[in-house]
Amino acid sequence: MSSEYRVLIDGELCEASTKETMEVVNPANGKVVGLAPKCGSVEVERAAEAAYKAAPAWAEVSPTDKAALFFKMAELLRKHREEWAKLETMQYGGPIFKTFNFDMTFDAAHFEFMAGVARAMTGKTWMAGPQAMTMTIRQPLGVVGLITPWNFPLVTAISKITPALMMGNTAIVKPASCAPLTVLKLGELAVEAGFPPGVLNILSGPGSSVGEAIVKHPHVAKVNFTGDSETGKRILALASAAVKPVACELGGKNAFIVMPDADMKGTVEGAVWGGFFNSGQNCGASSRYLVHEKVYDEFVEKFVAAAKLLRVGDPLNPETMIGPVAYKGHRDNIERFVARAKQSGAKLLLGGERPNTPETKDGCFVAPTIFGDCDPKSEIMQEEVFGPVVALARFKTAEEAVAIANDSRFGLCASIWTKDIRQGLVMTKQLKVGTVWLNQHLSIVFECPWGGCKESGHSKENSILALDEYSMMKNVWIDLVGTPATPWQGRF
Ligand code: NDP
Repeated sequence: MSSEYRVLIDGELCEASTKETMEVVNPANGKVVGLAPKCGSVEVERAAEAAYKAAPAWAEVSPTDKAALFFKMAELLRKHREEWAKLETMQYGGPIFKTFNFDMTFDAAHFEFMAGVARAMTGKTWMAGPQAMTMTIRQPLGVVGLITPWNFPLVTAISKITPALMMGNTAIVKPASCAPLTVLKLGELAVEAGFPPGVLNILSGPGSSVGEAIVKHPHVAKVNFTGDSETGKRILALASAAVKPVACELGGKNAFIVMPDADMKGTVEGAVWGGFFNSGQNCGASSRYLVHEKVYDEFVEKFVAAAKLLRVGDPLNPETMIGPVAYKGHRDNIERFVARAKQSGAKLLLGGERPNTPETKDGCFVAPTIFGDCDPKSEIMQEEVFGPVVALARFKTAEEAVAIANDSRFGLCASIWTKDIRQGLVMTKQLKVGTVWLNQHLSIVFECPWGGCKESGHSKENSILALDEYSMMKNVWIDLVGTPATPWQGRF
């Protein structure tokens, strides 16, 4: 596999005009995986012009013809599945069992899903009275800017690219700087599949320059962003100057609520998965566990015992469950959270230090860490750590569990573990989040909508609803009478 990567502008795979590059470093061993072009304002300008020029013709391409390109992309992604899963793992540390089985499956299938659902879209008519028929048509927005994070690098980009392009928009994509390589490779596939020049443009480069230039560019009609809540606020502020819409998928601090009647075996399995899958680097990770006092001790004992069995190590080993976190600065940040939680009086039940094995000694590893008896108001229960670090607290009643869960600036998701589905549904209605799972956590499929509320953002990814984020509704009035029925009728 080549170690040099190109950006895609106007159908051409190219370097940055300055020839500058950014090193992408494998967090498992500190070795350079590849060099990504470090774009600047020149490339943003070129990409925006190309996307703007390509937009009118692309908007007229039939869903069937767009779908043919999407199916070709899916076929090419499957052909490269093994190689790309490895690259994904090497650039940000996600274990190969995840990148091969989840990411690469989702990547190809998402192209097929959107090719199908967008062809089945329907419109609406409205009852405006006897003198008219009105209908709503959906139209593309034009050029959209898609800015994505590193925790599911290609999946997140594809979740935005497919509805955006299928709705007839053209796009400029900017992946995260620490893990842009698979998204850059996607540019190669788009050329091979035969997308018209300018329809899909992909730029790597710093968020503070390239990302902001995309957000501010007058040709960019809408921005769709997934990332940190603070970055989301900055982007919303920048876009507001032009009253530009921004769809945001941001952080989370998600409650995992264990009721006294929960099936303990399934709950513990769900707890380990929800908290530690992808080293906890999931917006939807279960990072706050609220456990009924009657089952708290039993849950703690079984959860800690299960988490001890997680295999931490080389992410390219198919047996590995926990790889390194994405980069050194991120590990340092996680370790500061852990140190402050220890000082706050939270009870350290597991982990809390760097694992030290031959497989982990050169990488950015964090041991699975569990804190018990946490104050619901403390930092470890309130702020997103985005690593394999979770916090537990007790509650006495369902009302108290809901109150603690809702006492958060985030509102992405939550899960309730109970055999009493009626009780679970009552609590579901009371939780201020975008997704609630009953007896499940972190099941995200592209058939269902995904997105939060409060500081977790306000848009929807996945499902047919994702298409709404990339289209504008236009209402059309057709007069049936022949003369407009106005109060001034007959006076002219
Ligand atoms: P960041 O917000 O740091 O970065 C996300 C993207 O934004 C990157 O491409 C980054 O570029 C870019 N960016 C940074 N600053 C700016 C700016 N000023 N203007 C425009 N673009 C900018 O997030 P992370 O990559 O660290 O991802 C982790 C976060 O993402 C977590 O908070 C997580 O919860 C959230 N997330 C939310 C999801 C959801 O569905 N709600 C799903 C997945 C993650 P660069 O890399 O160059 O800095």
